[in-house]
Amino acid sequence: MALVHEESSHGIFSGPRHDWTREDVVALFALPFPDLMFRAAQVHRENFDSAEVQISTLLSIKTGGCPEDCAYCPQSAKYDTGVQAEKLMSLDAVLAEARAAKQAGASRFCMGAAWRSPKDRDLDSVCAMVEGVKALGLETCVTLGMLTGPQAQRLKGAGLDYYNHNLDTSPEYYGAIITTRTYQDRLDTLEHVREAGIHVCCGGIVGMGEGLDDRVGMIATLAGLPQHPESVPINMLVRVEGTPLADERALDPLDFVRTIAVARICMPASVVRLSAGREDMSEETQALCFLAGANSIFYGPKLLTTPNPERDRDMRLLDKLGMRPMT
Ligand code: SF4
Repeated sequence: MALVHEESSHGIFSGPRHDWTREDVVALFALPFPDLMFRAAQVHRENFDSAEVQISTLLSIKTGGCPEDCAYCPQSAKYDTGVQAEKLMSLDAVLAEARAAKQAGASRFCMGAAWRSPKDRDLDSVCAMVEGVKALGLETCVTLGMLTGPQAQRLKGAGLDYYNHNLDTSPEYYGAIITTRTYQDRLDTLEHVREAGIHVCCGGIVGMGEGLDDRVGMIATLAGLPQHPESVPINMLVRVEGTPLADERALDPLDFVRTIAVARICMPASVVRLSAGREDMSEETQALCFLAGANSIFYGPKLLTTPNPERDRDMRLLDKLGMRPMT
């Protein structure tokens, strides 16, 4: 992890800060927009090549029928969203998708399964997928729900690079979004993943009706973890018909950009990922997100079950901005 120089409440020190208070984070959100963008862009340049964007591909290897009740999710069996429950994909089918993703320029291949937590026999199949995708020369990431310590160790043994498990929102707002698992359950899974030596991918979703305080709480919690997640996806809610959040008021895009900028400043050496919600985002908003320090996007026509900008459109946008995929 790159060393960074950041002001802390105790002066200047090297290394990412872990002592961000909510007040610190509130103060960042309250900065005049140009100052916030300037500071985020500065931190970005100290840690990354600002013209590079990591391209990841996300494949749903087991879609729908999830017993959890995440209010934003079309894959929950509790909501009638038209998403059909499917079985776990075969190894061959997953590897064919991974090869296609690599050919299209992806350097990381993420696989998502709509489970509360994986059963041990499912984990055998997922471990084989991880081994196969790694053998193609791609970084691997999976998101399978809650994990026990031994399950995390098994995934590590298969060579898994990243595990995604989002905190979703602030601890205070969490109960309005999910009731079937607790915030602490999520923190426990993150700890198992860390203990197994797997990189952590952890972020959240904005535009779910939360207040500014909740966006503050989410980032303060992420930045206060003993080690910052190496990858921080920030999603804009995709309002899906049939989910409880279908009619939620759209978040002002500038509030989304601010959230990206604050995440960049608080977690300077993490890859900040512009995730769900890009389909409805203007090119100008996406460009502002890159300026604010976002340096990863998901690429491909679908993000699990929701639409994502077409590959060509993404490449045209990167070209237009003089940016390029991270190798
Ligand atoms: S977000 Fe994940 S855990 Fe929650 S309902 Fe959807 S698939 Fe299930």
